[in-house]
Amino acid sequence: MRPSVPTVRMVMEGHVVRSEGRIVDASSTVCVVESSGARLVVDSGSPHVCASLVKALESAGVPPGTVSHLVNTHLHIDHCGCNELFENAKVYAHSLESPPVGVVRVSDRMEILPGVELVPTPGHTRGCLSVFVSAEKRYAICGDAIPTKANYENLVPPAINIDAKLALRSLKAIAWWAEIIIPGHGPPFEVLAKK
Ligand SMILES: [Zn+2]
Repeated sequence: MRPSVPTVRMVMEGHVVRSEGRIVDASSTVCVVESSGARLVVDSGSPHVCASLVKALESAGVPPGTVSHLVNTHLHIDHCGCNELFENAKVYAHSLESPPVGVVRVSDRMEILPGVELVPTPGHTRGCLSVFVSAEKRYAICGDAIPTKANYENLVPPAINIDAKLALRSLKAIAWWAEIIIPGHGPPFEVLAKK
């Protein structure tokens, strides 16, 4: 039997609202990855989107209780604000994010499901993870390692970063591998040319 190819869906598009240069509202993109019968959610949005996230998941046929794995690309509140919805999920985050007790601590590349790999992509925070999925195309779900398409197009590291050079290196590594990028705060886009 051929192993099944994973699938990737965005169930909620992330956003960032700025006013006079300051971020006044933000919530992350939320994705569902299915591989070998397991259901993985990447990031859970801000606390104020939890009700709409439940609706979005249910209309996608993914009630939160059926999710077996949850990955937080990092632990800023706009990426992990609705973690409690996923009561049956094993939760993963990078050890450098100082995750709470019970979370699986990731410190290196790690395949958590067939075709689904967690990859450290530091720079926005020390412990940023991206999720590389070998689906019908190569998808990188990358949280704030690439917050928006504009960061990729202009080769600009995230404005909030702990190390701009490191962040740029991570951005390039993602763009080198991926065919489709799902940024932390926007819809998926295609990688057209390798930079
Ligand atoms: Zn962040």
